[in-house]
Order: sequence, then structure tokens, then C-alpha cells
Amino acid sequence: MNAADRQLRAAATPRRGSRQTMVGGVAIGGGAPIVVQAMTNTDTADDFTTAMQVAQLARAGSEIVRITVNTREAAAAVPKIRERLLKMNLQAPLVGDFHFNGHKLLEEVPECAAALDKLRINPGNVGKGKARDEQFARLIEIACRHDKPVRIGVNWGSLDPALLARIMDENAKRITPKNAIEVMREAMVASALESAAKAEEVGLAGDKIVLSCKVSGVQDLIAVYRDLAARCDYPLHLGLTEAGMGSKGIVASTAALAVLLQEGIGDTIRVSLTPEPNGDRTREVIVAQEILQTMGLRAFTPLVAACPGCGRTTSTVFQELAQDIQSYVREQMPTWRLQRIGVENMTLAVMGCVVNGPGESKHANIGISLPGTGETPVAPVYVDGERTVTLKGENIAGEFRTIIDDYIVRKYPQRLA
Ligand code: SF4
Repeated sequence: MNAADRQLRAAATPRRGSRQTMVGGVAIGGGAPIVVQAMTNTDTADDFTTAMQVAQLARAGSEIVRITVNTREAAAAVPKIRERLLKMNLQAPLVGDFHFNGHKLLEEVPECAAALDKLRINPGNVGKGKARDEQFARLIEIACRHDKPVRIGVNWGSLDPALLARIMDENAKRITPKNAIEVMREAMVASALESAAKAEEVGLAGDKIVLSCKVSGVQDLIAVYRDLAARCDYPLHLGLTEAGMGSKGIVASTAALAVLLQEGIGDTIRVSLTPEPNGDRTREVIVAQEILQTMGLRAFTPLVAACPGCGRTTSTVFQELAQDIQSYVREQMPTWRLQRIGVENMTLAVMGCVVNGPGESKHANIGISLPGTGETPVAPVYVDGERTVTLKGENIAGEFRTIIDDYIVRKYPQRLA
């Protein structure tokens, strides 16, 4: 069984049963593939720039894209963004992110709700005191009127203070009170479940609700989602909020999401990375895809296995080839995906010497071992476990790319138009 077969076997592992919610044409939950989503960081009122970033995220693989709707100008821009996306032939479902004034914006600009595929409501930011329930109900009524699903997205940074106070009071009366962290986790779950129950009371169908409870601590996220998953069957949107920048953000998100996904918890994911100034927003999409693919839950792009290199690789040739092939695969994938069925399951190996090179190469669909220090300057290539050719000279990267292209044409059936 090669790596691709192992992946497909893993992907067939049954997942937690939940209801299914349709967002645009994308199914969330109910056994559907786990959906990758992302969020823009542009000013939504700038409909051109926002549409461009939505397109960029969608092309990178974000299957749903969320945009902030915080002002009247932003609400008015939403239909224009939708129009621009349609002109680009992009169907990515759009989610509007509402806080504080969502009820007013959606009432004042009904075209905004009509142009969105889902509303995200944070129950901690809907309103205070008596106004809270009334404004929450108005938001839900708008969703019902426009037949839109809603994500009830609790965030620990904006937990409803009244609800937290109530849970703390209840906790104080317990014989063995919970500690402050446990109370916070309990309040998050209670906020999500009570808000979902209120939404259903107002008239929103249960299969129009998605829940999330985002925190920034890995152990908190795992505990909160385990509890949430055990207590409801709404589809769950999973993500570590404020994960951070660079490797810290990626590691923290992966650590938290991997544990939950392995337990069958989570129907859609977002990796909330802080980009470098002017950095590439699509990084969060690629990381989300890589989490799902390396866990064998979905396949998006051929995986490139590469050894870390060691004292047997004394030049940068090996690293350059690994980088070249990784970049080539990412660049070509949008075209391959349109033309060839199943190409995302292909596996490649780029290895630095003959110690593990031939063995790893045999497990991949196509593998190459470069010569380590002191080895004969040749690079044996394995295709589906068989040694087929030995490359040498200055153009090993180019010849290896040609081998990949030829293999794709031979192995993966052409997609009919
Ligand atoms: S395959 Fe060779 S170069 Fe790569 S880490 Fe192993 S021993 Fe080092």
C-alpha cells in the first residue's frame, strides 16, 4: 500500500455524525468533507480590493470566505463584491461577520443579507442587557427572511458578561466549585448552546445553524470543543483564535485542530494566522489544507516528502530541488485539478542520499534520491516503486518535472468538460 492508498484509507475513517448545513453550494457537516475557510483583512467598503482578496483566497482553496461587515459602507459594498466575483466566475460562498450593529446594517441594507451565503453572529457582541435578546432575535429573523444559515460564533475575548456572571454564580453554589478556567470553558459552551436554542425558538431551522467556540489556548480549545461536540449535533466550525504569527501560529493551530479532528470533531476549519506586514493572506488556506491532507482527511495538492538533509548533503542542490518541486506542484495544481481526476492524491519524494532515498522513493508515486557526499553523482528515479531512470547533469530538476508531467497524463484520467 503506497502513501496515496494510505491516505484514502485514512480519509474513509467514519467521522462524528452531525446535521448538515448548506452554505451556498458547500455542505458543512453530516459526513461531508471538512471544509476549508478563510477571512479577508481588507476594508470591505473597498469592494474592488475585497473582491480581489476573496478571489485570491478562493483560488488558493478557501471553499468559503468570510468578510467583515462593520459599517453601512461595508454592508453596501457586499452586493458589489458578489457581482465582481460572479464576473470572475467565482462562486465562493461569502459569509458576513457581524458585531454590535449587525441588526441595523442588515435592516438598512437588505441587499447585503441577500448577497451573503451565511451570517456570522457573535452572541457576546449582539447587545447589552434587555437589548441583547431583542437584537439577537432581529438578526435571526433577517436570516430566516433571507433563508440564510447562521454561524453562532462565540469568542472568549467577547464572552457575554451577563452569561459569564450567571455561570459564576451557579458555580459558587456548587459543593465543589470549578476553577476559573473550567468556568470560562463552561460559559463558552453555554453561550453557544443557549444562543442556538434561542435562534431555533425565533424560527431558524436547526439545519441552518453552525456553532463555534474559539479560544486562543490549545488545551482550552480541545476541552471546549469536546464538550460542545458531546452536547449537540450542530456542525462545528473549528479554529484557534488569535493563533499568532509565523511558526507559532501554525504549530498552535495544528496542535489544537489535529487532536480534535482525529476525534472526529470539526466540520469546517479556519487557521487564524497573523500575516507578516504585506504578507500573503493565502498562507492560512495552505496551512489549513496541509493540516487536513497530512492527517489523511482530504487531499488538495500532491504531497512532497523530503528528508531534512544532514551531514551527507553538503551542498544546497538537494534543498533547491525539494523547493523547486514543491513550488512547481503548487503552481501547476490549479491547471492539473481542472484537467485530471485524482491528481491531488499523487505523492512525491525528494531525498538527499541513498541511505533512505530509494526506500522512501518506492513508497511514493514518484521519488528521486540525489547523490550524497561521496556518492556517485547520479539521481535514481522510482515510479510506482520501480526504478525507471537515473538522472545526472545540470538539468535534473527540469527532467524530474517532465517525469511528473508525463506520469500525470498517464495515470490520472482526463476530466471531461
Ligand atoms: S536521506 Fe540521506 S541526506 Fe536525507 S537525512 Fe537521511 S541520511 Fe541524510
